[in-house]
Amino acid sequence: MLNCSRLICTMSVISIVTLSTVTHAKDSLMIEGLSYIDKTPIQVDIQDGIIQGIRAKSKLSKPTQEPLYIAPGLIDNQVNGYASVSFGFGGGALTVEGIRKATEALWREGVTTYFPTLTTNRHDILLANFATLARAVKDPELARSIPGYHLEGPYISPIDGYRGAHPLQYVRLPDWQEFMAYYKAADGKIIQVSVAPELDGAMDFIRRCRALGIKVALAHHNGSAAVIKQAVDEGAIVATHLGNGCANLINRHDNPLWPQLADDRLYASIICDGFHLRPEEIQVFVKAKGVDRILVTSDVTRFAGMTPGIYNTDDGKTIELTVDGMIRYPAQQVLAGSASPMTKGVGHIMRVTGCSLEQAFHMASRNQARVYGLTDRGELETGKRADLIVFALEDFTVKIRQTYVAGRLVYSANEADAQ
Ligand SMILES: [Zn+2]
Repeated sequence: MLNCSRLICTMSVISIVTLSTVTHAKDSLMIEGLSYIDKTPIQVDIQDGIIQGIRAKSKLSKPTQEPLYIAPGLIDNQVNGYASVSFGFGGGALTVEGIRKATEALWREGVTTYFPTLTTNRHDILLANFATLARAVKDPELARSIPGYHLEGPYISPIDGYRGAHPLQYVRLPDWQEFMAYYKAADGKIIQVSVAPELDGAMDFIRRCRALGIKVALAHHNGSAAVIKQAVDEGAIVATHLGNGCANLINRHDNPLWPQLADDRLYASIICDGFHLRPEEIQVFVKAKGVDRILVTSDVTRFAGMTPGIYNTDDGKTIELTVDGMIRYPAQQVLAGSASPMTKGVGHIMRVTGCSLEQAFHMASRNQARVYGLTDRGELETGKRADLIVFALEDFTVKIRQTYVAGRLVYSANEADAQ
């Protein structure tokens, strides 16, 4: 929580001017930095949380030691938890305060919009946690960063490998009545559901989701080419964490990867943490889909940011967080989510594909805004909401210096240093 006077204190990094102090709503800001598009100096003018203009400058009025870039805030469509808070907590352990804690921690990593993701779980826990999320977003500040939620499962493949780390005892067939209970508990704010299309009833489920405007993603499945085509015909639009949620051994001709890669109507979300996919897989996925159809996602869990070691998950499994940030589920030799935030994904996709900084932000912000209809964000453009990040970039490592949501400074590295 930063007020106006603390905002002015951050002027050492970039030039910020409050032109009016009548009310917060009248505040104006001017932010300078290098454009993420072409690395030239720009000035972004903001009024009432909206970008009013972007002006090219011959040079920055206050050059900084390290080059600082300005880009749209990151949009993460798959956040299972963060900073010790899990959206899958049972027993009432997920609280509004916890959701705020996770959101503030994500702001530190430049994430200005995210979808709390609930995975395969007990019915009463899913109901309770959607209700808690619905309570949390009554706070307008949280609502600005949480436009809705992602339900991944429980309607996924029960088969080992495809199921990943989702607990078998809670995996089930699509059940519209049950889903409607979640939808109501969530105040109608379920933005995306990830399902396995080969399950009995899945096509009808996808059709009904589409009618409600919910984006359907394919995940943790072993759908045939015909089934995948039918699912996309019915409205599925995203392949969730393509290349993961798949058995280690698959048929080289008949497997779910080729049809999902081949269908231009499907966006592919990919986990770019350096562990979930080989560099060659990322290269091929980006070549096949094109920069406009890739969604960089984090799939972070509550272990993100914690000390390496052995931990027990909410459903009693033993997982290992390694020193280099990998979360392994040794019992099935699969990964169990990630501990690397979106900033890592931006750097990693640039490193392995050679894409530009601009293209990396298309894949980590703009495309997400387009898929999910978040038309007010995702790009540095006049008229968009001022969700901005200021950051340094060194050896493919993104270091967030400031994060703004709707023109409001929600994180400053300088302030953190001073504490
Ligand atoms: Zn998954």
